[in-house]
Amino acid sequence: MDSIIRDISLAPQGMDKINWVKEFMPVLNILNDELSQTKPLAGKNLVVTMHLEAKTAYLALVLKNAGANVTVTGSNPLSTQDDVAAALASQGVKVFAWYNTTAEEYEDFLHKALDTKPDIIVDDGGDLVSLLHGERSEMAGNILGGSEETTTGVLRLRALADSGRLKFPMIAVNDAYCKYLFDNRYGTGQSTWDGIMRTTNLTVTGKTVVVAGYGWCGKGVAMRAKGLGANVIITEIDPIKAIEAVFDGFTVLPMQEAASRGDIFVTLTGCKDVICRRHMEVMKPGALMANAGHFDVEINKEDLAALAKSRRTVRKNIEEFVMADGRKLYLLAEGRLVNLAAGDGHPTEIMDLSFAMQTLAVLHIAGKHAELDKKVYTVTADMDNRIAALKLNAMGFCIDRLTSDQVEYLHKA
Ligand code: NAD
Ligand code: SAH
Repeated sequence: MDSIIRDISLAPQGMDKINWVKEFMPVLNILNDELSQTKPLAGKNLVVTMHLEAKTAYLALVLKNAGANVTVTGSNPLSTQDDVAAALASQGVKVFAWYNTTAEEYEDFLHKALDTKPDIIVDDGGDLVSLLHGERSEMAGNILGGSEETTTGVLRLRALADSGRLKFPMIAVNDAYCKYLFDNRYGTGQSTWDGIMRTTNLTVTGKTVVVAGYGWCGKGVAMRAKGLGANVIITEIDPIKAIEAVFDGFTVLPMQEAASRGDIFVTLTGCKDVICRRHMEVMKPGALMANAGHFDVEINKEDLAALAKSRRTVRKNIEEFVMADGRKLYLLAEGRLVNLAAGDGHPTEIMDLSFAMQTLAVLHIAGKHAELDKKVYTVTADMDNRIAALKLNAMGFCIDRLTSDQVEYLHKA
């Protein structure tokens, strides 16, 4: 079947975006040069379910250059960029994706991707894996293995593995140092504010920002909010993370107390109903809510709609909800990932690390699947160190090496 995209005439514009990011993805470039020669994925069918913007398109091209037949679908209804999808389709990658898919289209595209009979899958958030363990479980036996990009997807995989139901090996790319330390923290830190600022055209300085969740993403978003001049409040459910936030200089409060103080709320927890009716009831007029965590469940949209006497779109990606008492509350990007639905996602140099790791994960599955069990694997130290060394070198930094004397000293009993 041919690609299903919005408009192939957008391909040149999308190609410009892909060519731009290639200039800033040195590690992926090195892997691309190597794999284009050796073609280790020759004959393999791959399905990549991810946010389809320029960096993802380049990853798909690298995997294609490595010999694979690659099919790409979106991992979020609002993060596909139609020009990039067109460009990718024009380069011989099969694409089933467009911006603003309905729930039915989103699922149908996943089904169409599975119809290509993948050997290896790359998932982001776990929707593809979930389909392979439900409606399309008949296909699971063909899958050699796959990799998962994000925290919540890994949680879902671990739940499957713990209950003995995981049907093929999966590599938790999210849990690599070269992924979460940089992507979740600095990537989300920058791209969330990029998304919020370009969407609202409002200041951050002087505002009270409430960050829900002080995990890797929350730390990045809080750090950058502080740098932009905001007063930052953290909400948490984990006492250790809460102490960390206090020692990092932030105020920690339960959401119920933070709710009446915040000007901008950002959720990054992976949990549902982090902001719901009782919080919305006490929010200040003009409060803005954005999610950069998981799907559109962190801010309860049904509660917001039920409380509102009217609602309207006031600007692209901003919906205004007028409460019965006249307060106006704003929801960005339909409560979906604000950095990807209302921006270009993480910066390019960051995705260079994440996607180089994805490439190694796919190669690992292709080469080692016969030795792998139906488990969730973390990436090997060799893979992490290789990517880190390549990146450091590309960034022009050198580090010290242990002398043999030092090695001996460090290993002395
Ligand atoms: P994490 O596990 O490091 O952090 C999540 C934090 O949220 C934890 O500290 C946890 O205690 C806290 N938490 C959970 N439920 C909570 C609640 N109800 N109220 C307050 N705090 C709560 O995870 P992470 O790597 O920071 O990822 C967070 C979410 O963001 C995940 O869903 C992940 O998939 C997603 N993510 C998004 C992007 C992006 O581009 N927007 C990037 C990476 C990860
Ligand atoms: N698919 C779910 C899960 C969150 S996705 C959802 O849409 O809600 C979060 C992942 O998006 C992160 O792990 C990050 O690696 C990835 N991401 C962030 N910026 C990206 C970009 N520019 N291109 C592709 N993926 C990106």
